Amino acid sequence: MSEIYEKKEELIATAKRCFDLRLQTNAGGNLSVRLEKQDAIIIKPSGIGFNECTHDNLQIVNLDGSIEKSAQKPSKDLGFHLDLYRIRDDIRAIVHCHSPWATGYASAGIEIPCLTVQTIEKIGKMPLIPLSTQGGPQTAKDISPVFTNRKIHAAVLANHGTIGVGENLMKAQYLAEIIEETAHIAYVRDTLMAAHGKTLAELPKYGTAIEANSI
Ligand SMILES: [Zn+2]
Repeated sequence: MSEIYEKKEELIATAKRCFDLRLQTNAGGNLSVRLEKQDAIIIKPSGIGFNECTHDNLQIVNLDGSIEKSAQKPSKDLGFHLDLYRIRDDIRAIVHCHSPWATGYASAGIEIPCLTVQTIEKIGKMPLIPLSTQGGPQTAKDISPVFTNRKIHAAVLANHGTIGVGENLMKAQYLAEIIEETAHIAYVRDTLMAAHGKTLAELPKYGTAIEANSI
């Protein structure tokens, strides 16, 4: 089986999981994976839902930006996907989705707190990236500087969505899930605290938290 076939299978399965978990509806969001045997990635094109990816509609894009023959329109976010692969050789897959709890936090201008042991260990910190200076969706210019720090594996884009990166698609997808789960937990915590007049919440004090807080 060729690498392209295998990676497309993996991308289709990951996209379906993301859709089934309702982290991404309709045709928004995008995900990609880096090929090992050529300087290129496989990416979901524009206008295709996470539940509609097939071997025929996925695009292969070279890291120089040239797109191999395709009837589809390239993703609006192709630029930041390519840039993240160019600046970080440890990034081999990216899942970007518009999951509602996390995007709600980001749109309120609030960074999602890493408040569970899992988030502290697996993410450490998820920076909030504001809208572009022109007020539009974030591009590579806004996103890449945050990811030049190799300790960053996740970020949240105001009024847009989340980014999880990893050494393979499943790891990037897990981050997309943890980001959303954490935002949901944080919302419940903050709402209950406000309702009960509490202002201080404990965070777990594990060894990894020291590393997380030192970013
Ligand atoms: Zn997006």
